Amino acid sequence: MRFAGKNAVVTGGASGIGKATALRLAEEGAQVWIGDIDEAGGRDLAETSNGRIHFQRTDVMQADDIEALMQAADAAGGLNVVFNNAGAGGSRDPIDQISPDDWDRTQALLLRSVALGIRYAAPLMIARGGGAIVNTASIAALQTGAAPTAYSVAKAGVLHLTTMAAADLSRYDIRVNAVCPGFITTNIFTSALGISGDKRTQANGAIGHIATRAQPLQRAGRAEDIAAAVAYLASDDASFVTGTHITVDGGMTIGPRHSW
Ligand code: NAD
Repeated sequence: MRFAGKNAVVTGGASGIGKATALRLAEEGAQVWIGDIDEAGGRDLAETSNGRIHFQRTDVMQADDIEALMQAADAAGGLNVVFNNAGAGGSRDPIDQISPDDWDRTQALLLRSVALGIRYAAPLMIARGGGAIVNTASIAALQTGAAPTAYSVAKAGVLHLTTMAAADLSRYDIRVNAVCPGFITTNIFTSALGISGDKRTQANGAIGHIATRAQPLQRAGRAEDIAAAVAYLASDDASFVTGTHITVDGGMTIGPRHSW
C-alpha cells in the first residue's frame, strides 16, 4: 500500500502499459485519474475499479486537456504522482522522406505531451510540497532498430527532458524519472508488426519469436513488468532516485543470449 492516501494521474491509462500501471497504483492504495482519447476503454476501466480509478477524456495533443486532468486529481486533495505515458507509433517514414507535418505531429504526441504533463503537474506539486513524475521513454531512445526515426528521436528527447526537469524541480522535492520499455505485448507493439483483430493469435506466435530471438530472458514483455518499475519510481522506495531511467526489456539492449 505504498500509495495509500495519494492521488495519481496516468495518461494513456485506458490500455496497455498505462492501464496496468493505473491498476497497480490503485491496488497499492492510490486514487487514479486516467486521461485518454479512448473513451470506451477509459470508462470500462473506471467502472470496474470500485471507485479507485476515474476517467477524464484527455487528448495529450491539447494543452488544456492535460492541464484539466492534473487539476482534477489535485482537487481531490493534492496531486502526488504523474505518469506521462500516452502515445502511439507516430510516423514510420525515414528521415529522407518524412514531411514536416508528420515530424511535428510525432514530436507533439510523444515529446511535447510529456513536457506539458510536467509543465502543468509541477506547479500543483510545488504548492503541496513535492511529488513524483515518471515518463515513458523506450529502448528506441537508446538504440537504432527498435522503432522508426521520428519516434526514436522523440523518446530520446523524453529521456533528456527527464534529466532536465529533475534538475529544475529538485529544489521543490519533485523527483522525475523515466522507464524504457522493450517489446511489450500491447496494441502499439502488435500494430507496429501489422497484426490486429482476429490475427491476434498469430501475433502471440510472432511476439514469442521476436522475444526469443532478441531478449536474453526469452519471454514476451508484459505491461505489468513496466507497471512494477513505474510503481517503484513513483513510490517512496525511490526517494533518493531522480533524473534517471530504468530499462525493462528482458535484457534486449545488452544483446541476444550467448550460444557459447
Ligand atoms: P497502447 O496502445 O496499449 O496504449 C497507449 C494508450 O495511449 C491508448 O490507450 C491510447 O488510446 C492512448 N493515446 C494515444 N494517443 C493519445 C492521445 N493523443 N491522447 C491521449 N491518449 C492517447 O500502447 P502501450 O504500449 O501501452 O503504450 C504506452 C506507452 O509506452 C507509449 O508512450 C509507447 O510509446 C510506449 N512504449 C511501448 C512499447 C511497447 O512495446 N509496447 C515499448 C516502448 C515504449
